[in-house]
Amino acid sequence: MLMQTARPLGELENPAEFIPRHIGVTEADEQHMLSVIGEASRRALIDSIVPRSIARASQMKLPAPLTESQALAELRAIASRNKVFKSFIGQGYYGTLTPAVILRNVLENPAWYTAYTPYQAEISQGRMEALVNFQTMVCDLTAMPIANASMLDEATAAAEAMTLAKRSVKSKSNTFVVAGDCHPQTIEVVRTRAAPLGIQVVLANSAEEWDRALQGDFFAALIQYPASSGWVHDWAPDVQRIHAKQAAAIVAADLLALTLLVPPGEWDADIVVGSTQRFGMPMGAGGPHAAYLACRDEYKRSMPGRLVGVSVDCHGNPAYRLALQTREQHIRREKATSNICTAQVLPAVVASMYAVYHGPQGLRRIAQRVASYTAILARGLERLGYTQTQMHHASAFDTLSYKTGEQTPELAARAISFGANLRQAWGEYTCISLDETTTRAEIELLWKIFAHEGQELPTVAEFEKGIEPLIPQQLRRTSDFLTHPVFNTHHSETGMLRYMRALSDKDLALDRSMIPLGSCTMKLNATSEMIPITWPEFAHVHPFAPRDQLQGYAQLDEQLRTWLCQATGYAGISLQPNAGSQGEYAGLLAIKAFHESKGQGHRNVCLIPSSAHGTNPASAQMVGMQVVVTACDANGNVDLADLQAKCEQHSDRLACVMITYPSTHGVFEMQVKELCEMVHAHGGRVYVDGANMNALVGVAAPGEFGGDVSHLNLHKTFCIPHGGGGPGVGPVCVVEDLVPFLPGHEAGGVKSHGVGAVSAAPLGNAAVLPISWMYCRMMGPEGLRQATEVAILSANYISARLREHYPTLYASANGHVAHECILDLRPLKEASGVTAEDVAKRLIDYGFHAPTLSFPVAGTLMVEPTESETLVEIDRFIEAMIAIRAEIRRIERGEWPQEDNPLRNAPHTAAVLMKGEWTHAYPREAGAAVLDERRHAKYWPPVGRVDNVYGDRNLFCSCVPMSAYEE
Ligand SMILES: *Cc1c(COP(=O)(O)O)cnc(C)c1O
Repeated sequence: MLMQTARPLGELENPAEFIPRHIGVTEADEQHMLSVIGEASRRALIDSIVPRSIARASQMKLPAPLTESQALAELRAIASRNKVFKSFIGQGYYGTLTPAVILRNVLENPAWYTAYTPYQAEISQGRMEALVNFQTMVCDLTAMPIANASMLDEATAAAEAMTLAKRSVKSKSNTFVVAGDCHPQTIEVVRTRAAPLGIQVVLANSAEEWDRALQGDFFAALIQYPASSGWVHDWAPDVQRIHAKQAAAIVAADLLALTLLVPPGEWDADIVVGSTQRFGMPMGAGGPHAAYLACRDEYKRSMPGRLVGVSVDCHGNPAYRLALQTREQHIRREKATSNICTAQVLPAVVASMYAVYHGPQGLRRIAQRVASYTAILARGLERLGYTQTQMHHASAFDTLSYKTGEQTPELAARAISFGANLRQAWGEYTCISLDETTTRAEIELLWKIFAHEGQELPTVAEFEKGIEPLIPQQLRRTSDFLTHPVFNTHHSETGMLRYMRALSDKDLALDRSMIPLGSCTMKLNATSEMIPITWPEFAHVHPFAPRDQLQGYAQLDEQLRTWLCQATGYAGISLQPNAGSQGEYAGLLAIKAFHESKGQGHRNVCLIPSSAHGTNPASAQMVGMQVVVTACDANGNVDLADLQAKCEQHSDRLACVMITYPSTHGVFEMQVKELCEMVHAHGGRVYVDGANMNALVGVAAPGEFGGDVSHLNLHKTFCIPHGGGGPGVGPVCVVEDLVPFLPGHEAGGVKSHGVGAVSAAPLGNAAVLPISWMYCRMMGPEGLRQATEVAILSANYISARLREHYPTLYASANGHVAHECILDLRPLKEASGVTAEDVAKRLIDYGFHAPTLSFPVAGTLMVEPTESETLVEIDRFIEAMIAIRAEIRRIERGEWPQEDNPLRNAPHTAAVLMKGEWTHAYPREAGAAVLDERRHAKYWPPVGRVDNVYGDRNLFCSCVPMSAYEE
């Protein structure tokens, strides 16, 4: 067994030494915990919880574990198979210089990357300020009134814009017009998303086709600005024409270009989307990057994704919180506007900090340099005999296109021989994109690549004087942007360092205390897992670089997929989906395509238990399925009789059932095998939501017990940090006969069999895959199984110790739970007026992030400790919960009034506790809630309880004007 016992002296190395670093519970702890639970051994505990009928037949076939340094060395060797060439490919991905102060203090800093999604506003003020900066930056640069706090990538943002337009415009048409000069991957994802919704995509490949399309009927049109070929065009008259048809104009725009170009908002565009990648996030073979979506004010209530808004706290001070549609999927379910849950918060924070650090002048300077180099490059190439076609328009910001005909592959090959990549596009064009990292030497290298035998090479110095960018006069931006002080203050490194530190100090992340979030698995994100993501071989490669330069990623992809197949029991996996929600979408598309391939395209009913996570019905709706809700019984299990009845009722139209296992109620349902068989008997497929895989890895495999499709959340079970709400990776896993229907990616060279791309990049959020690879490699099959078992052990320990204070709502017949437990707080309300939310906020005073609040059952807290927490920390949490229960008893006994007690007023800021006069019914010390100050530094929330209703009534989603902070 892997639990560390005394090892013989003189042992050289123990390849399994990472396991006790990852798993917080020691052997001695385990004995104690088992005695509290009342089981003799961990084996006995697991056997009494996991149904025998689903227990794994065999161990996972994974390589034996390596130490941290060994695994890093092995991954180094894989990384070195990626070739870091100078990229001139562009197409939405550019070289960028991440300011070192941001790289180290945000991207590589656990205070930022281990934070959870900011549902608990009071402990998330720092990251929400960064996100409000992001929203303000997007609004200012695009000249739009409102922007959300990030989208998954530019292509899916364009697809979301399409459906947002469909919901919002007057036009009743089903046609979506797309300018042919959009990025190819965007067109691909838009087509994937349009098909199941019956939306007709009309691609306009020439000025004539565009003109004809705009004369027809359509509900929206998508334009790329600058175009994929680099062309910069004034689309103002087209926007007018689009509006005349009661349709929406959607512009995919480059934020760096918008520092110099007239922004789409000034043409009256309706929705603007794009990527913020070049604001400091490395290309990373395609992700993670924050995309953005901005829209007209009228659309804001139907906008996809998360929006941070400004509200007030109970003391009347400005405070941030997630606005409007925060938990929209959970509330509106199949009527939700989008399935986006996890987004790209960490990359959005990086992009916003890039703007804070450079400020408007700095950004303009960077853009001007890019534009000037582009103009110089064009002049030199002209001298060498290349006339810029730009699809026949001599305008550009950072990208030039030349009709190079048969010469195209030859030029690309020549570039490669010099260590550079050019883009070959539309058969006979060569495109060159420049960026922030471009140097004089590189411009001269490009001339060398393009020069014919014997031609004399130009020099940059020849053209540099008085060079004018290739931006037409009428498209030069005259309006200001980023005028708020936050973008004009922190320009020294000292200032920037302190600003970022001040923000992260306001927040609670895993680097301070446990985050016991049910369903979200906030486990250790080990430093050794994180280190490789910024290695240049992973960070600085372009997703569309030639295949032979991406061998390292190919191997990483291959190995990780093999291991995840072992962990899940499935036959095939795609790592393309860049969040769990996108995995669900891809999985449902596979089911749909499968039925169609059998001539059963009419199968479109998706059965979903009422307890399901909100993304499930939202995803089903996006693939055009009809959601039929099935009941849960009194024990929280799927009501099999109801399921049976619905299967029979919809038998000939049944597409699938979507269940979560173990259930969102935290229980291993005994009859899951029977459930799967029942659905199969009616010709339906079984989708098993894999968010709870932390209770299964090594113990049971959905692909073995009847699941046909699952998505995993690598940002839950497989150690990718939550990043404050993203990035994630949501691999879609399928059984044999569904493998042909995994997502393809034409632009990335992944063969498609009917299901197109679901993400902009072929490997989705490729750059964070090393994290999960390292985790599997250092844990090995035994370590992974042990992690699962300890996660279950810890949850049962909490449930057992808290039972007399807070009953666990659902358990199996023997009283055990899976890897999480739902604490029922509803009975407290009656006697004390205390709500689950009060307890959640009171936990902040004790220095804890609250468990999952009111999901899947209102008025409850769902606790998931994970295997990574130490017994000391788990006990500290339990003691805090017990102390809070004691406080509630004082309210029940009438010692403290229901309206004035430490729970009702939680959380307490330092300022409130230090106020001269103390007027509350309880002492100040009680308000401060310090359990043991000597052992644990007190966390002080920066704001009191945030008023959500005020914020939604007075929606404000940009930087707070300084005057708001004045008395
Ligand atoms: C987290 C979660 C999802 C959604 O995953 P995202 O990565 O946030 O999109 C879906 N289902 C369940 C049960 C989850 O817990």
